[in-house]
Amino acid sequence: MLVYKFGGASLKDAGSIKEMVKIVKQCDDNLIIVVSAMGKTTNRLENIARLWFDGKDFEDQLQELIDYHQKIISDLFEQHVPNNLNSIYEDLWQKLRETPSLDYNYEYDQIVSIGELLSTKIIASYFNILNTKAHYIDVRSVIKTDRNFKQAGVIWNLTKRFALERFTFENYKIYLTQGFIAGSTNNQTTTLGREGSDYSAALLASACNAQKLVVWKDVPGIMNADPAWMNDAQKIDALSYQEAIELTYYGAKVIHPKTIKPLQQNKIPLYVNSFLEPEVAGSVIGDIDDTQNTLPVYIRKQQQALISIRPKTPEFVAETDISHIFKLMANMHISVQLAQMSAASFTVCIDQIENMFDPFIAELQSDYHVRFNAKVEIITIRNYNDESLRRILNDNDVLIEQKTRKTAQIVRFMKN
Ligand code: ASP
Ligand code: MG
Repeated sequence: MLVYKFGGASLKDAGSIKEMVKIVKQCDDNLIIVVSAMGKTTNRLENIARLWFDGKDFEDQLQELIDYHQKIISDLFEQHVPNNLNSIYEDLWQKLRETPSLDYNYEYDQIVSIGELLSTKIIASYFNILNTKAHYIDVRSVIKTDRNFKQAGVIWNLTKRFALERFTFENYKIYLTQGFIAGSTNNQTTTLGREGSDYSAALLASACNAQKLVVWKDVPGIMNADPAWMNDAQKIDALSYQEAIELTYYGAKVIHPKTIKPLQQNKIPLYVNSFLEPEVAGSVIGDIDDTQNTLPVYIRKQQQALISIRPKTPEFVAETDISHIFKLMANMHISVQLAQMSAASFTVCIDQIENMFDPFIAELQSDYHVRFNAKVEIITIRNYNDESLRRILNDNDVLIEQKTRKTAQIVRFMKN
């Protein structure tokens, strides 16, 4: 049994959806298909949710969302649009006629989840007319979470039980379900965090003990740098689970960070393949020894701040200071990308999260002298060598450079 996940880019128009169908038809195994919202639908729904919640006009955005889906529907079905697709916006309209509650995260999940419901309904109907029977499952009755809306925490034992109950493969060979969305124990809709459908697919693969999970993307596989940044980016053929976790930790956007753990537990390999060239081997993450990999991997994380913290009294930085500073960061959910200590000061590079940064600095300033550079970027090179270092250090605006045996990190002013 396999799990295939198709992201927004691989479902962005009727042509892409037809490619997806071809890929599904070529699969002889039992299959769970996990799909996300089509194209940039989630972004658009986020805008709508915000506008509606703030009492502003969302009609234009809503119309664009409907036009976009209608175009896909008419391209797929031409004159023969199935009846059930005539009312697919009803839930959204209904919701947007209500007055928002005071809980933005709750409202966000109720609205943004509709992207996945639309995409699965359209695709299920399309499978239907092709006589490829794909049994539709509403994943909200399978993946169970707490009520931490917008970033819901998965309740694993329930999820596993419901997955085994629902995906039995007794009467069906193919199931179609949603990524990203889930349900609380009292049946409210929740979401797992942006780009969360990789994670959904991994949860289902793990619960059902799949042979493998394939994530179909519009890139050839996992690349050693963002191709938009480095035009000579190369594909990484194979990665260990641990290395994949490291890369996502440093900010690589290969895969949603939570995806790996459920797979690693059951040793299920994850393939990243291009839906444009399904025959070409992509990348695999698995129980692999990749300690001999020498290809440098470049990860760039922007919107960072480099902060230097000095005690107000002329004393050395003490362990109690460090512990105080880290506690502050933990409480404010600020993650540290790099830290460096000297006798007189402690330096950290952190995500410069909106709404969080100013209060953090203010808090620090009550006890310390604080200086910072905002708008810097941190570049991490795994498997660095002289040449790869030179590439990044060539600029004379480097603020900090730090190395371990496998990893080099460079903080520099942000470049475009
Ligand atoms: N549709 C959701 C998003 O864009 C989830 C996903 O694509 O993984 O974040
Ligand atoms: Mg997506």
